[in-house]
Amino acid sequence: MTVDLRDYIESIPDFPGPGVTFRDITPLLGDSEALKTATNALVDYARRQGATVIVAPESRGFLLGTPIALELGVGFVPARKPGKLPRKTVSESYTLEYGSATLEMNADAIKPGDKVLVVDDLLATGGTIAATNKLVERLGGEVVGLGFLIELTELQGREVLKDYDIYALMEYE
Ligand code: 5GP
Repeated sequence: MTVDLRDYIESIPDFPGPGVTFRDITPLLGDSEALKTATNALVDYARRQGATVIVAPESRGFLLGTPIALELGVGFVPARKPGKLPRKTVSESYTLEYGSATLEMNADAIKPGDKVLVVDDLLATGGTIAATNKLVERLGGEVVGLGFLIELTELQGREVLKDYDIYALMEYE
């Protein structure tokens, strides 16, 4: 039986504010066949790209990054919101539509030469992943690919991330 992953994405109008359509991935996470299909596709991609580490930003990225790492047989590194990691960290700030945000990673999480696949649930403007990539690269890692469940094509995150290989399982406008 083949699974159409689009059947497991709920589109919620006017969330978190007027005019925004939120793509809710929780039905996909809640169905074992859909979750397995999505995870396996991203594991295959990670393997093709030769990834030796999986990195994902808080928090929905964690839900995909950990099973992908487990299935691939490599480690998982979280990029966290500020103040959550108690040891020495590196930090990157980036701009959002209103205001800014920061991500932090353990300073010893990536070794020079590591080949990193960065994973998140959704690519919108690309700001979150651009900051995550910078953290990896500051620690000497090489970003060998970016894997997503969903790419919102209208927001042109691909432009911001044009130096990287991108693989998304679904596209929405
Ligand atoms: P970007 O930095 O590319 O503009 O935004 C991507 C980040 O925002 C991702 O970490 C993603 O979790 C979150 N995000 C933005 N819009 C949506 C959405 O419609 N659905 C989901 N699931 N996440 C979103």
